[in-house]
Amino acid sequence: MSITRNVNGKCPKCNSDINIKIWDSVNAVYHPEEKEKIMKSELFKVKCDNCGSEIALEYPCRYQDTDNHIMIYLIPDFSEDQVKELNDDLENVNMPQMMEDNKFRVVSNCDELIEKILIFESEKRDRPIELCKRKVFKDIKADNAEISPVSILYNHNTEGEYFSFIGCKDDKGEALIVPFDKELYKSLDIELVNRDAYKEGMYEVIDGRWAATLMK
Ligand SMILES: [Zn+2]
Repeated sequence: MSITRNVNGKCPKCNSDINIKIWDSVNAVYHPEEKEKIMKSELFKVKCDNCGSEIALEYPCRYQDTDNHIMIYLIPDFSEDQVKELNDDLENVNMPQMMEDNKFRVVSNCDELIEKILIFESEKRDRPIELCKRKVFKDIKADNAEISPVSILYNHNTEGEYFSFIGCKDDKGEALIVPFDKELYKSLDIELVNRDAYKEGMYEVIDGRWAATLMK
C-alpha cells in the first residue's frame, strides 16, 4: 500500500494556509495512478488554492514496484549515513531469496527517480547507463570544453532512447539531447558482467560518482 499523511503549510508566495499531502511511500502495483503522477512530475507538487501557485516539494519518499522487484528511496541531499541506516534496517529484516534480487536504490531528486523507473521499465540496467553517460559526456566535451550539464538523464520517447543534457542547448538553441548508443550499452554491460558488478539486495547509489569511482 501507499502511505500518505497530511500536513499544514504556508504558500511561499501569498502566505495562505495550504494542506499538503505527503507521500511517505508509493506502491506502483496497487496504485499505478500515483506512479503516473510521478512520471509526469506531479506527485510532489501542491497548488495554492488562494493564488494558484504551484509549489514543488522535496521530502523523502519510498517508491516500490514489487512486481518488478524495484525499491527506490528518494531522499533529497541524502548522506552516506542515511544509506547505511537503510541497509542496517534491511539486515534486520529476514529477506526471502526473492527480495535479495530486488534492486534497491537511493536517489536525491524526483528527476532521478523518474529516470530509474524508465531505465528499469525498458529492461535496462542502470550501471551501464551511468557508464554510457560518462562516455557520451567525454565525447561532447572533447568538441566543446565549456559544456557543463546540471545532470545527464536517460529518457525515451516514440522516436527512441536518448540522453538529455539538462541545462545545455544545441546549435539551434534547443535542449541538447544525444541519441542512445545501443552497441556501447551492450559492450559496457558485458564488461560489468565480467567484473561481477551486478550484486543486488542492498541500497546502492548508482550515479555519476559511482561511475567515476568504478573507472578509477
Ligand atoms: Zn498562494
